[in-house]
Amino acid sequence: MMQSIEQFFPKLSTPSKVVIVTHQKPDGDAMGSSLGLYHFLIQLSHQVTVISPTNWANFLDWMPTANSVLNFEQKENVCKQIIADADFIFCLDFNVLHRTKHVAVHIENSNAIKILIDHHQEPQVSAFNYGISNTAKSSTCEMVYDFIVDSGYQHLINIDIATCLYTGTMTDTGSFRFPSATASVHAMIAYFKSIGLQHTPIHEHIYDNFLEGRLRFIGFVLTNRMEVLYQYNTAIMYVYKQDLQRYDIKTGDTEGLVNYLLTIEGIKFGAIVIDRNEERKWSFRSKGNFDVNTFARLHFEGGGHFNASGGRSDESVDETVQKFKQILKQYEQALQ
Ligand code: 5GP
Ligand code: MN
Repeated sequence: MMQSIEQFFPKLSTPSKVVIVTHQKPDGDAMGSSLGLYHFLIQLSHQVTVISPTNWANFLDWMPTANSVLNFEQKENVCKQIIADADFIFCLDFNVLHRTKHVAVHIENSNAIKILIDHHQEPQVSAFNYGISNTAKSSTCEMVYDFIVDSGYQHLINIDIATCLYTGTMTDTGSFRFPSATASVHAMIAYFKSIGLQHTPIHEHIYDNFLEGRLRFIGFVLTNRMEVLYQYNTAIMYVYKQDLQRYDIKTGDTEGLVNYLLTIEGIKFGAIVIDRNEERKWSFRSKGNFDVNTFARLHFEGGGHFNASGGRSDESVDETVQKFKQILKQYEQALQ
């Protein structure tokens, strides 16, 4: 059974072999929390390796020491050995082990002490020895900040840590606009500013760092691949493999596209499906009291948060879009 994170604090002072792992296709919060924790633990003389189950978006490459992160798909044998030898495995920004894809079985088989730090609903508590799961938190980055402060090491927070943790808090709060951007989030950012964090370059690295093709792709999708279903206050986008190829779209280029749907007046529910090689990947976003976490769980083998979730399908893009439209009928009332 998972013990509280405070019970783990005494172990921090003994230098150990530490692995930090996050979910596949890590986003700003996954990468930021992992690297933020990395820059903290190395100061306590731990031997630390960050492992990502897959590649990640190029716009995260600038982050301090992102170049030391191992991509499991590229360094499978090295990663397996490091996981097998680890004393501690920190699992960040995911609730269930299968979010680490093919890494899950190696985490399961390792004798390491496993620690969860995450803000998604319904954590797989049986898989972890220690941990904290708090859906009220803006981001795993904010939780890593709390972890450092609560364990008595606030003085070790340096610019690298602040930079990493700012990044994921910024991306997971929609640049501090979602309700999750609480007083404690702003107090944390104020602390980062007080030690010298420069926030403007972080926004530029993340949001002003794309190729021309991505902008033209967005224009194409908005014009040709969007439907507004006013009866349900819902808007959808669907992207075929050929669209991705035509504009040479890379990991991360489609992130945030779904949010455009919610900029239409009156739209409460936005959904996008993208044809990935092995599956059709859904992203769901809502405004107000429509619960897309439950929607994703019930209909698309997914989950996430109340207002932001994801799911998947083995059907074709057209088939899964048809299914979505069928399902939507039962939510007409809920979406008024
Ligand atoms: P995104 O749409 O940005 O990929 O994901 C939105 C949120 O839903 C993220 O917090 C992400 O962790 C979660 N999420 C996305 N896809 C899945 C999924 O297939 N299963 C679960 N449980 N959560 C998901
Ligand atoms: Mn997160």
